[in-house]
Amino acid sequence: MVVRVLRLGHRPTRDKRVTTHLILAARAFGASGVVYSGKRDLVLEETIGDVVSEWGGSFDIGFSDSWRSELREWGASGRVVHLTMYGLPLQDVVSEIRGCRSDLLVVVGGAKVPGEVYDLADWNVAVTSQPHSEVSALAVFLHELFEGRELDGVYGGARLRVVPQARGKRVEDVSGGV
Ligand code: SAM
Repeated sequence: MVVRVLRLGHRPTRDKRVTTHLILAARAFGASGVVYSGKRDLVLEETIGDVVSEWGGSFDIGFSDSWRSELREWGASGRVVHLTMYGLPLQDVVSEIRGCRSDLLVVVGGAKVPGEVYDLADWNVAVTSQPHSEVSALAVFLHELFEGRELDGVYGGARLRVVPQARGKRVEDVSGGV
């Protein structure tokens, strides 16, 4: 199952950090890539590209000037999950979503989410019915979707690798370069 994330309404000045964190969470928790709408942000794309070059994997980032077309095009072959505090509880629908075996587009908002998104989604899913953040909602959703298997993710082609330590930090250069 391929899982991509659609981040709605990115605003480079206001959302720089949160969108970066959202995309890093998407990558670390097993998504294959992200597409974002709103305003194009080349610094964001470069930052994510640098992380992928250093830490590996085949994660990609793209921009779309029409979230509506993204949703419609994705809906033709895959399924759409919209994360919102107003949706159905994650714990009630996650097995059904996992069981559909289709590729998934996971939509997360920023500022106001257009009402049409709720209609175009196959599932509107709440990660608790309390307000929090797109970063936490996405991380918990992916963790439940993959039943924790993403924690053992392997990122091929990495230049850097953390060697886990009980204390302190150890990072190895595994690029094999000179
Ligand atoms: N009122 C918004 C909502 O519909 O969830 C909260 C806006 S929040 C700043 C930005 C994004 O975080 C939302 O569009 C949604 O994708 C995600 N989010 C926040 N709380 C959530 C929750 N409890 N469950 C699922 N997603 C949530």
